[in-house]
Amino acid sequence: MAEGKKYGGMEAPAVLKNHYGSYVFVNKKMDELRRTECLCYNCANLNFHRPDNENCPIAGAFYKICQITNVALAVTRCPKFIFEEK
Ligand code: SF4
Repeated sequence: MAEGKKYGGMEAPAVLKNHYGSYVFVNKKMDELRRTECLCYNCANLNFHRPDNENCPIAGAFYKICQITNVALAVTRCPKFIFEEK
């Protein structure tokens, strides 16, 4: 595996990148969309300034998975989403 090489036949093939000292496969297109399009980032139930126990428990579980496994997730469906301009 070589850093920067493209993997797969996706529209935006995965690229191997060093992320905080670990090598991870990145779909750059999805990664960029995640920052604006993820439901959690646009939801009133998630506030990065509130303590964990006052935040959305679903988002909290996703966050723990991301921390433990070094993956990034984008939520595209949620029954509890409440739009909030951020
Ligand atoms: S309610 Fe859904 S969209 Fe909102 S923060 Fe929780 S998981 Fe994300």
